[in-house]
Amino acid sequence: MQLPSFQVPPRTIMTPGPVEVDPRVLRAMSASILGQFDPSFTSLMNETMELLRKVLQTENHWAYPIDGTSRAGIEAMLCSVIEEEDKVLVPSFGRFGYLLTEIAERCGADVHLMHCEWGEVFDPQDIISEMKNIRPKVVAIVHGDTSTGRMQPLAEIGAACRESGSLLIVDAVATVAGTEVKTDEWKIDGLITGTQKCLSVPAGMAPITYNERIEAVISLRKAIERGLVPQEQLTSRNLDRRIQSNYFDLSQLQDYWSPARLNHHTEATSMLYGLYEGLWIILEEGLANRYQRHRLNEQALVAGITAMGLSIFGNSSCKLPTVTCVEIPDGIDGEAVRAMLLDEFGIEIASSFGPLHGKIWRIGTMGYSCQKRNVLLTLASLEAVLLRHRVKIHPGEAVQAALDVYQQAVKQSS
Ligand SMILES: *Cc1c(COP(=O)(O)O)cnc(C)c1O
Repeated sequence: MQLPSFQVPPRTIMTPGPVEVDPRVLRAMSASILGQFDPSFTSLMNETMELLRKVLQTENHWAYPIDGTSRAGIEAMLCSVIEEEDKVLVPSFGRFGYLLTEIAERCGADVHLMHCEWGEVFDPQDIISEMKNIRPKVVAIVHGDTSTGRMQPLAEIGAACRESGSLLIVDAVATVAGTEVKTDEWKIDGLITGTQKCLSVPAGMAPITYNERIEAVISLRKAIERGLVPQEQLTSRNLDRRIQSNYFDLSQLQDYWSPARLNHHTEATSMLYGLYEGLWIILEEGLANRYQRHRLNEQALVAGITAMGLSIFGNSSCKLPTVTCVEIPDGIDGEAVRAMLLDEFGIEIASSFGPLHGKIWRIGTMGYSCQKRNVLLTLASLEAVLLRHRVKIHPGEAVQAALDVYQQAVKQSS
């Protein structure tokens, strides 16, 4: 039987990931395979580390991708650092805070969870006073939570962690390459991102970076495992401190990413081609220009949505620039609207989770998807679909308001 090959329907992707990918990245990924110890490939590994340091704004030696989606990076970082009974503070302002909690608990951590209302973030001082009570080994926090569309300021928390000796580990999956993330300046010890959001590379890798404070924890665990730490220096907790995972053991992974090239897994060749090209594209555009582009498209989207008469969810002073949460008008079936956008216009926006399910749509402006054409098409199509659903909106206003924002920006820059 002759089966047809899979035909990909054309799409405009306006979700918080995965997002559209620059054709240059897709072309790079179609290049032929190199062996993982081929000098051409190992120099690509080194160059990728170099580009990653620039995009992550760090002088850390260790900056390399974990093979797997973003949560693979989170799991590698947490399970290499956290040991049984370690105290971990997780201030959670959305769904991805619970992911950090869940993974830390699986590592045996004594997790102290802080909550805040969805749509808000924490006052850094509240986190800092909780740190004083708990004295955690690790503070694990999300920078931009895509589930609520909020962004937590980190600089004060980073300074407090450095002062008190806690390690700050940050999920910056939704923010890196879309808005400012200053790893070193904010004193972040370990940081995780993902390819399929603002890096605009297909899902499948999680670039991470960590400094010597984290490396020291990993190295000590390794030394104990190898019997290199004298017995009298070990407490009972020190007996088995081996990192439980083989695949996610950062001590083994860093040996593979070092000149020693100690064999671990087989590197994901085509993904690395894609990541390298994606990082090049980011640096070609320039980080400041890229953040500016994300800001402008977000502003145009928000102007259009509000001109239509819809409301933006959450506290606007901590809005995540890469995700816009739109309140679903009363009595409207949010899923029917999303389905019609996809079926009739080929545009995908996202629904939501937990307490926000059925209450908001989430529209991403990330990476290659974050462009004027996509924003205008989304506004025009959403307006048409809402009219079709007999929602009372102000017809004809949304696209005009967005065009005003774009024209204003051209005027200001000339
Ligand atoms: C998307 C996302 C993740 C999870 O990413 P996967 O690639 O699906 O594993 C983690 N954290 C945040 C903040 C995200 O937005």
